[in-house]
Amino acid sequence: MNESFDWDSLTFSLTPTETMYITETEGDEPWMPGRLQPYGNVSLSPAAGVLNYGQGLFEGMKAFRTSKGRVVFFRPEENARRMQRGADRLKMPPVPESVFVDAVEQVVAANINWVPPSGKGAMYVRPLLMGSGPILGVAPAPSYTFLIYVTPVGPYFKGGVNAIDLLISERHHRAAPGGSGGVKAIGNYAPGMKPSKEAKADGLC
Ligand SMILES: *Cc1c(COP(=O)(O)O)cnc(C)c1O
Repeated sequence: MNESFDWDSLTFSLTPTETMYITETEGDEPWMPGRLQPYGNVSLSPAAGVLNYGQGLFEGMKAFRTSKGRVVFFRPEENARRMQRGADRLKMPPVPESVFVDAVEQVVAANINWVPPSGKGAMYVRPLLMGSGPILGVAPAPSYTFLIYVTPVGPYFKGGVNAIDLLISERHHRAAPGGSGGVKAIGNYAPGMKPSKEAKADGLC
């Protein structure tokens, strides 16, 4: 464990770690196991499908350190399957469950010193799948990138499990029947930011 880090100050925010996982696939090639590389910026074509047409998905899951010091996951294969359903909806090549789970294990193992002590939080695991190849017309990208980064986090809700106030917006909608609301499409999330900020600014929640 990282002894010099202040584990008590963790919130749900980004603390960069050392290593990330990345793999790419071209056209109809099968996904191959990827590589670990230093955590850092990725280079993308300005015409990347994800930047122009939102061909992107994310996942989120946690690795925990138990009181006995083991590092455990909760059903990572379910996150793999959900990402496969999303890939199907956004016309991206699904990452096989075995590649996904192996990648999660590799990147957590490579950053094991960043898994918080038992009871102090968790290591948040963030897989991304995106159309990274260039495409001008509205169509599936010619190539794809699957990457995973990790960061230690504290509780999502500060102050533990408490009742929270919620506001139902009548003016904004997150999802429509037949749309992408049922999968973790990256484009589902930005439209919620304005209603959320406004509700907070109005003191409504
Ligand atoms: C992914 C997600 C969550 C967390 O869901 P889990 O199934 O616990 O991973 C919560 N809210 C929204 C809107 C999400 O997309």
